[in-house]
Amino acid sequence: MQVITIPHPALRHVSKPLRRVDKALGQMVANMFELMYEHRGVGLAANQVNLPFQLFIVNEAGERGAGEELVFLNPVLQLPGGRDEDDEGCLSIPGVYGPVVRPARIQVLAWDLAGNKIDRVVEGRLARIIQHEYDHLQGVLFPDRMSEGARREIAPELEAFEHEYLSQLRQDESLGAASVARHLAALEADYCQTG
Ligand code: ZN
Repeated sequence: MQVITIPHPALRHVSKPLRRVDKALGQMVANMFELMYEHRGVGLAANQVNLPFQLFIVNEAGERGAGEELVFLNPVLQLPGGRDEDDEGCLSIPGVYGPVVRPARIQVLAWDLAGNKIDRVVEGRLARIIQHEYDHLQGVLFPDRMSEGARREIAPELEAFEHEYLSQLRQDESLGAASVARHLAALEADYCQTG
């Protein structure tokens, strides 16, 4: 498992609800925490590690043993309130930062790995992190939410990622859209089917 960077196609995948939780999924979540701490992140969504599930993890403290480790399955955000602007970054666009306006407060409904219901009103930095991760599950990245002017400033950096991807793609066919789609569909067949 590794953190993928733009423009890997999985980052534009619209995640599917999980219908099944098993030991293997628990292990994937444990690996996601490992990776998140390794990269000094505070949140990580499943499609950032090439998984198609509505699942993200958060630890506002960003280090093992500190803060609260949160796992959100099949999250729904509602009742947005207030307005807040702050700079964001993303492990899938390393080194790039930009201002994003978001609701200051949000209610999050979800499930944890143990099957407990989560119903929390969050605000401040935690609310921003949760909205950023929730966006990932819809295939939305933080530059999509920046103003056109601010996005122009980071455009050269984003383009550099495109060039890097294209050169990797020439050596590794598994990074291609068709191959990624097959990989994600197989996981969805295992974990996201109803009945
Ligand atoms: Zn991100």
